[in-house]
Amino acid sequence: MSLPPPEQDTHIWELKNFSMAEVACTCPHCLRIDPKGLSFMSWRTMIMIQKSRDHLGGPIYFNSGCRCWFHNKIVGGISNSSHLFTIGEPGERRLTTAGDVTVVNPRERRVMTSSEQYALRQSLSEGGFTRFGRSQWFIHIDNDPRKVPKVEWFY
Ligand SMILES: [Zn+2]
Ligand SMILES: [Zn+2]
Repeated sequence: MSLPPPEQDTHIWELKNFSMAEVACTCPHCLRIDPKGLSFMSWRTMIMIQKSRDHLGGPIYFNSGCRCWFHNKIVGGISNSSHLFTIGEPGERRLTTAGDVTVVNPRERRVMTSSEQYALRQSLSEGGFTRFGRSQWFIHIDNDPRKVPKVEWFY
């Protein structure tokens, strides 16, 4: 699956292994609007995550995906966070282009081994991501067009 051009990006999508609900903002504010939360996650970003998953051949789970301004504020996210979506006028509308992929195996409730983390990190590169934020608990990835590519940092 190739990336649609930026102007065709949308928050409505269907992918083999990911649902819009699992990357939605599920803060109390968003849950009041929709019981499934609000998902304004970029389709382009999710295609890259699906590619990463195909390469990995195993599940990828999120700690965090979409954040409304309220949720972003609560978690102390930066004001130009790539997790942030805005539902303003069409010209100002911004989709989420980031995900925090967990390195804690949610089924076995343990931190992934270093080789599992390596495989995950490698797959995210294969999916086309070039922006990585590392923490002990997750790998932040985004393809935010407003930000400089080919960087890696630590939280
Ligand atoms: Zn929210
Ligand atoms: Zn993040």
